Amino acid sequence: MTSIVVLGSTNMDLVAYVPRAPARGETVTGREFRTVPGGKGANQAVAAARAGAEVSLIGAVGADEFGARLRSALEHSGVDTDLLRTVEGPSGTAHIVVDDEGGNAIVVVPGANGTVTSLTHGDEALIGTADALLLQLELPLSVVVEGARTARGLGVRTVLTPAPARALPPELLAATDLLVPNEHEAAALTGHAEPHAAAQALLRFVPEVVITLGASGCLYATRGAEPVTVPAPRVRAVDTTAAGDTFVGALAVALAEGRPVPGALAWASAAAALSVQRAGASTSMPYRSEIEAAAGEPEAEPA
Ligand code: ATP
Repeated sequence: MTSIVVLGSTNMDLVAYVPRAPARGETVTGREFRTVPGGKGANQAVAAARAGAEVSLIGAVGADEFGARLRSALEHSGVDTDLLRTVEGPSGTAHIVVDDEGGNAIVVVPGANGTVTSLTHGDEALIGTADALLLQLELPLSVVVEGARTARGLGVRTVLTPAPARALPPELLAATDLLVPNEHEAAALTGHAEPHAAAQALLRFVPEVVITLGASGCLYATRGAEPVTVPAPRVRAVDTTAAGDTFVGALAVALAEGRPVPGALAWASAAAALSVQRAGASTSMPYRSEIEAAAGEPEAEPA
């Protein structure tokens, strides 16, 4: 079975739905409040597990109620949490205000995630058994770099989601096989708002790039070949939260299974399109059978 290791964050998302976001010093009355397991690392782990891989998450939760709930939500989705530490203090939280126009404002407090500053021998051994290591930027940068370099040294493919956007140290780019920014992150990293130009700029540092373009699909570029654009399935989106994490999790599984790049991108696009049609983050992520059914549809149509 395909094996994916995720080195990343686990947060409890505390989501308040309001008619409009409050200004500084103002109080507004919200309509609804939800606590939803999230964090980019945990989301990618759930996406990959539901897409059919054996998945382990390396990270940390706090010794609080949220920590216990986050761990059990991961386990419920089939993610191995043996190397998810429980540390003193609070779990990571994301405080999210969603307004009636679908806009949001977010404060992330890293909590336990901030304690993951280096890998253990157990973490390294696990990474060595994986087909791919998935990384994002919600853990301390030192451990993200260490994870990427460890995987690279062991011949394990590294897939980096450069979010939240920030400058990337050269040693991290040098250990990244596949970089998957969204178009805003790609523009922030390169100064090029146009995705083709951004992709070309990123290829100076990494061998493969996928820039996700929301409802417009994605752009794949690799050195020495024409870039490929894959359109997203046309669907009615109700909640795009974690579409990017669903895409990356499914893409990593498809590539690790040996699917050729265009097919893997279409498969990941099918998974992400399913997730945007449902409310929630990890709760909206599709299972493998659903992805297969959705991805297979175009081929099933008569010529
Ligand atoms: P998020 O931050 O919401 O997780 P993101 O900004 O990281 O998302 P996007 O580029 O918005 O990433 O979306 C990732 C992928 O999800 C896209 O490449 C596309 O395949 C799919 N997707 C997003 N929005 C839609 C949509 N409205 N319809 C169909 N597919 C979508």
